[in-house]
Amino acid sequence: MDFRSDTVTLPTPEMKQSMFDAALGDDVYGDDPTVNTLEQFAAERHGFEAALFTSSGTQANLLALMSHCERGDEYLCGQQAHNYRFEAGGAAVLGSIQPQPLENEADGSICLERIKQAIKPNDFHFANTKLLSLENTIGGKVLSLEYLAKARALCDEHGLMLHLDGARVYNAAVAQNVDIREIVKHFDSFTICLSKGLGAPIGSLLLGNKAFIEKARRLRKMLGGGMRQAGMLAAAGLYALQHHVERLNEDHQNAQYLAEKLERVPGFKPCKHTVQTNIVFVEVEPHIDLFTIAEQLKRKGINITPGYQGCRLVTHLGIEQADIDTFITELSRITQV
Ligand SMILES: *Cc1c(COP(=O)(O)O)cnc(C)c1O
Repeated sequence: MDFRSDTVTLPTPEMKQSMFDAALGDDVYGDDPTVNTLEQFAAERHGFEAALFTSSGTQANLLALMSHCERGDEYLCGQQAHNYRFEAGGAAVLGSIQPQPLENEADGSICLERIKQAIKPNDFHFANTKLLSLENTIGGKVLSLEYLAKARALCDEHGLMLHLDGARVYNAAVAQNVDIREIVKHFDSFTICLSKGLGAPIGSLLLGNKAFIEKARRLRKMLGGGMRQAGMLAAAGLYALQHHVERLNEDHQNAQYLAEKLERVPGFKPCKHTVQTNIVFVEVEPHIDLFTIAEQLKRKGINITPGYQGCRLVTHLGIEQADIDTFITELSRITQV
């Protein structure tokens, strides 16, 4: 039982079968029929010209930043953005692209006025501000469609490109009960993680127009991300997009259920109002030592990532409601003694 992340999901038997049966070829030659099918399917499904299968979400974001920006350009992003904080500074290291992080609001958005003020004037003292990068969901929170439309308008007004780190964008679409296109239509490019809640073992997608994806494909090769008989992995991604989207709703309901149950455990304070998708943030009272608790839980086969003042718990296709009951029972037992 693993609440650490939705990246821990294992392929289902049906998904494995689709991998086993996949038609294969050398994708660096463009010969892998399953990779080609996945990329075409993804492009059509999302209303984009082209798609690229990548090894990870980190790689997809890096390719996007490097395709939009040249050396000395700049991207605006959230202070909490994955492609600023959690990707080892790749855009700066490998792309010579300057990040300009801006404080995220409590709802995960970035204040549009703040964005406007951060756009550098056309003056040789400054980096060229090229791109705004948003993230949805961010910390499990969903950006409103109104906000996305306003961000698009702002980018158009100032000649910026707009990228979405959509690692969990399907969680947003399911939570808002809208077709995925209603979200992604606002962006020039976006990513999807197939290996999180969607349940594939490996892989992400990057979408954009043809010229953008061609550039990204060249950069992917440069970064060592050209994979050969990658159809075995693409098959899992295709299966995930075709079969694992609607079930994200169960993860969202389980996250709500988990937050409600946690509220009754003394010393635990789930941030209930922020549970919009499959992520629950929990604060704990200072006398509670989550590191010790995590060790004790582990002996019962339950995994969490402890923090000093709280932790993040994630629901996914490997967690059922009964697992949450077991977790709460064990947690209550441990915290009572
Ligand atoms: C997980 C994640 C990524 C990176 O994906 P990896 O496949 O782990 O490299 C990027 N952005 C967000 C928002 C993520 O949650």
